[in-house]
Amino acid sequence: MSDAASDVVTEALEELRQRLQGLDEGAVADYIPQLAQADPDCFGLALVSMDGHRYRAGRCDTEFTLQSVTKPFVLALALAELGPEAVDRRVGTEPSGEAFNAISLDPATGRPANPMINAGAIAVTALVPAADPARRFARILECLGRFAGRPLAVDEAVYRSEAETGDRNRALAYLMRGTGALAGDPAEAVETYFRQCAVLATVDDLAVMAATLANGGVNPVTGAVVVPEPVAVRVLALMATCGMYDAAGDWMVRVGLPAKSGVSGGLVAAGPARFGIAVHSPPLDAVGNPVRGVAALRELSGRFGLHLMHNPAPAAATVVSLRRDEHGGEVAAQGALDFTAAERVVSALGECAPESPGTVLLDLDRVTAVDTTAEAMLRRALDLLTEQGHTVTVTGLPREG
Ligand code: GLN
Repeated sequence: MSDAASDVVTEALEELRQRLQGLDEGAVADYIPQLAQADPDCFGLALVSMDGHRYRAGRCDTEFTLQSVTKPFVLALALAELGPEAVDRRVGTEPSGEAFNAISLDPATGRPANPMINAGAIAVTALVPAADPARRFARILECLGRFAGRPLAVDEAVYRSEAETGDRNRALAYLMRGTGALAGDPAEAVETYFRQCAVLATVDDLAVMAATLANGGVNPVTGAVVVPEPVAVRVLALMATCGMYDAAGDWMVRVGLPAKSGVSGGLVAAGPARFGIAVHSPPLDAVGNPVRGVAALRELSGRFGLHLMHNPAPAAATVVSLRRDEHGGEVAAQGALDFTAAERVVSALGECAPESPGTVLLDLDRVTAVDTTAEAMLRRALDLLTEQGHTVTVTGLPREG
């Protein structure tokens, strides 16, 4: 773990923490009475890279209940267990543009709009396969722990506090049984959901959880495969479109990262294949997102160019040499080949191929990795050259990496 200001990332987080600590807006949620006890000044930020490097500033080892921040992770569990079709049958994939506790049920299908609002999350929790409610919750808790890289526990006082007051969520569950969106008993579904919301974690844990989604479902600290890669992609997509409630559009414009907030002041954001970030600060804005967390992510995104739609050019050239004469041509490539890099190689091959049948050499000695898309593109390009009558030779085709 880095010491304060011993590196540039920590320095940036620490500077933000100091400045935003003075941001004195918003209100701590109190509709769950126990949450009103939270310290409004508690504030921590953490970032975990895909190499498992950890950076932090402020209060990062204070536990708080995750609340709605659990939604993407439990969705990941349900998707991993059941596959996307079974989950889609019960829950939609459209942003609701409404509050987190809205009765966003589709009039035609009865399905909640998406799994990031309460109705959708309750339906998803009920889908987690298990013989009984206790085992269902045990699986949820175990999965959240694998995302975090350590076993997590429940805050029983917060759980009871919500169970005593959560009539709106109960009503949602009963409504969904009526519309066919909810599997099983509504009372049980809501109790399991309340327990899930009361799972305790720290900002440090949460940054690892976000980094695991960003890392294709593999925990970058423990190395554990928590969920399959397509599940992580799907969850990140839903976080991007629905994670910030009715502020999701503004969030995508100004921050541009898949994210999820919760009423206790937690916030996770993920940079796919880059990093996981977590912030905790209890005061919430009018739509229920944490004021300091939103401000911190806006600044970090701008300062470090983290917006998903901001695509810097790849660091190095892909095609390092291209030779052509009347008998043949040669292309040498380097680095890791994905769609973009493979497109460069394929287009260079087209350029170097002689007019009439000749020889084409593709030198991949300096290529470090070829993903499945790039491999398929290269194979097809080489086949086409062969079909055109060229004699094709490839050196150093690496394994997929
Ligand atoms: N347990 C909370 C609820 O259902 C979670 C909501 C949230 O974090 N937005 O009301």
